[in-house]
Amino acid sequence: MSALEKLRGTGVPDVPFYQSLGNEEVMFEQAWRHGMPVLIKGPTGCGKTRFVQYMAHRLGLPLYTVACHDDLSATDLVGRHLIGADGTWWQDGPLTRAVREGGICYLDEVVEARQDTAVVLHPLADDRRELFIERTGEQLQAPPGFMLVVSYNPGYQNLLKGMKPSTRQRFVALRFDYPPADEETRIVANEAGVDHALAAQVVKLGQALRRLEQHDLEEVASTRLLIFTARMIRAGMSPREACLACLAEPLSDDVQTVAALMDVVDVHF
Ligand code: ADP
Repeated sequence: MSALEKLRGTGVPDVPFYQSLGNEEVMFEQAWRHGMPVLIKGPTGCGKTRFVQYMAHRLGLPLYTVACHDDLSATDLVGRHLIGADGTWWQDGPLTRAVREGGICYLDEVVEARQDTAVVLHPLADDRRELFIERTGEQLQAPPGFMLVVSYNPGYQNLLKGMKPSTRQRFVALRFDYPPADEETRIVANEAGVDHALAAQVVKLGQALRRLEQHDLEEVASTRLLIFTARMIRAGMSPREACLACLAEPLSDDVQTVAALMDVVDVHF
């Protein structure tokens, strides 16, 4: 076993663990079979990326993931000319690679990307399924395997950053949210390697924190943070220390809000 495998505990899993929450697997597979792109909306850390990784594995497709940011341009997606020892050469971007290989291109937080990306995404997202590489003059027809998947967090949206209806209307849209308690407990137990009782306790706390009408909080506790908390407890930290470092502090910079969150923690641990 390699050092990395030892660190992971049980070796590299073949299939990423994904706890199904509804009909999302069927919808995704049917969209892929019929050449339709998929949009996943949901809060941060609720399983969007894990779902796409799982589906790529299940369908046997290469996956190219791009974390979008406000400086991400069409060139970053499509590719660029680079200068090397032997002169200029063309390097495909992740979108072009996914098209050539017939894989999935997953654009995480797509609303962050620059508006010029719509020019390359629109012809790929509708019936044309084409990618035009302006710099090389190449016109690629996406093979049947290719799929465009985008995600965003509707909670972050503002008027400027919202997804344009003309873009949104090209996608099959799936809404994700934090899982119900039983499913979330299974996820936390599996991902953190803790027993069911501890996972259930952490999830119960997470759900209580989510119910708080806390106006200072921009976001509620994600499944990801609950997993971090359980992992730290498993590693030997006291539950209070773990909840402070993995739940209260990541959720707020305001000292009083952190104290209020810890009051809820103290009721649960
Ligand atoms: P998002 O992309 O929505 O921000 P992720 O997919 O990265 O969130 O989810 C955060 C973590 O939560 C994942 O790494 C995984 O450990 C866990 N997780 C969330 N939902 C699920 C699920 N349904 N099945 C398995 N793991 C999940």
